[in-house]
Amino acid sequence: MHPARACRPARVRDNGPVSVKSRIVIVGGGPGGYEAALVASQLGADVTVVEENGPGGAAVLTDVVPSKTLIATAEVLATVGSSGELGIHGLGRVRADLGEVNRRVKDLAQAQSRDITRRLETEGVRIVEGRGVLEGPSRVRVGDQVIEADTLLISTGAAPRELPDARPDGERVLNWTQLYDLEELPEKLVVVGSGVTGAEFASAYHALGAQVALVSSRDRVLPGEDADAAEVLEDVFRRGGMEVLSRSRAQSVKRTDAGVVVTLADGRTVEGSHCLMAVGAVPNTSGLGLEEAGVTVSASGHIGVDRVSRTSARGVYAAGDCTGVFPLASVAAMQGRKAMWHALGDAVSPLELRLVSSNVFTSPEIATVGVTQAQVDAGLEAVSVKLPLATNARAKMQGIHDGFVKLFASPSGRVLGGTVVAPRASELIHPITLAVSARLTVDEVASVFTVYPSISGSVAEAARQLHIG
Ligand SMILES: Cc1cc2nc3c(=O)[nH]c(=O)nc-3n(C[C@H](O)[C@H](O)[C@H](O)COP(=O)(O)OP(=O)(O)OC[C@H]3O[C@@H](n4cnc5c(N)ncnc54)[C@H](O)[C@@H]3O)c2cc1C
Repeated sequence: MHPARACRPARVRDNGPVSVKSRIVIVGGGPGGYEAALVASQLGADVTVVEENGPGGAAVLTDVVPSKTLIATAEVLATVGSSGELGIHGLGRVRADLGEVNRRVKDLAQAQSRDITRRLETEGVRIVEGRGVLEGPSRVRVGDQVIEADTLLISTGAAPRELPDARPDGERVLNWTQLYDLEELPEKLVVVGSGVTGAEFASAYHALGAQVALVSSRDRVLPGEDADAAEVLEDVFRRGGMEVLSRSRAQSVKRTDAGVVVTLADGRTVEGSHCLMAVGAVPNTSGLGLEEAGVTVSASGHIGVDRVSRTSARGVYAAGDCTGVFPLASVAAMQGRKAMWHALGDAVSPLELRLVSSNVFTSPEIATVGVTQAQVDAGLEAVSVKLPLATNARAKMQGIHDGFVKLFASPSGRVLGGTVVAPRASELIHPITLAVSARLTVDEVASVFTVYPSISGSVAEAARQLHIG
């Protein structure tokens, strides 16, 4: 890697007169930052990425890549665990070696970060290791270096939120970045927080063979997701033997001789060998010099941006979790690209959240796009249908009992959104996303061939049932 010096605009000669390359400086090398860097370099800019922990960011090193790699192992065990119904026996002794699983997880994350580093360097992007701090809207300080910029992109991400009486110690009380140092499966993992992260780890550790207690402050798990979908998941959790504590706010977590004790707001306690704190994230925006640069930050610490990622300061853009727009790697990457397309004068359309497909990687998975049940319940005009997978021939063959396909359409028949609850729902949501994006009607979706038998056949069947006669 090449340490950057305070730099002046680089002069390059293309086909004629000398032109001045636009200098782009990106603080934070996660998906928001590195995807932006690739676009900016493609558009001929002089690009510097400042990153303190490694290209790929938290997404690659501690969040998306490690969690989904762990879940890949859990998925296999879940499939094995339910294979008796398919006439397969004798798999009872199958178990995962968590130390080995976690070494694979960490190796894969590092390899992915190296791949991203190589790609950035191949594209001519300069990577500066260290913590960047803004000195106004067009300068970034990294240690004793000062880097001048024509355009800045802030993509510093977010970090696990901590409760004052439940600080992680990295051994027994853990946040999600610390789980991968475990050598042995926890005897009993208490997961505090039943949002996407809490639900995913509860599901994974349960499949890996740990006892799991999921502490949820709300009426049900996954309060931000489709209520029918969350109900299916909670039912699967409980039937599988997971302890789900609803309306239970964790007040404190303390170490004991044998493990941990979680005290709830009503005085009850839950004991376990380990505790995972999954109570949300806080944006990495403090001490960055944002205020001095004229960048407006909300009370929650998120950077305010418009739909092409502009902040309140001219020439300063922001992307990803530090903006709080939609905490997904895919959205961070798109915000970053849009910032560069806009800054460098390329064609750009505003970010459209209705087109974002997202997935909860539990067993079963929950995938969603577009209009939600909550919006319909609040008065948005739409018709809907929910088809349980239990009636799908392929699902029967595969022993899939839980899940559904739900489709929303406008009163005139245009597909507005959907939710799929199924194994690999993350793959099954794509046809619905295409339909929403291309503004297809339910009849157009229904008229497309699907493989028989297939779970995606239920998407076409749902569309058929929404036909307006
Ligand atoms: C457990 C978990 C699982 C997830 N799974 C998924 C998933 O399956 N799919 C999905 O789409 N999303 C998932 N997410 C969300 C996803 O991780 C984030 O939305 C994504 O990482 C946001 O990307 P980003 O570029 O904004 O920030 P990050 O990926 O957080 O990267 C920010 C980078 O900025 C660096 N940085 C911060 N401050 C400075 C500074 N001052 N100077 C230099 N560098 C700095 C950090 O070191 C970091 O590398 C998951 C999140 C969690 C917690």
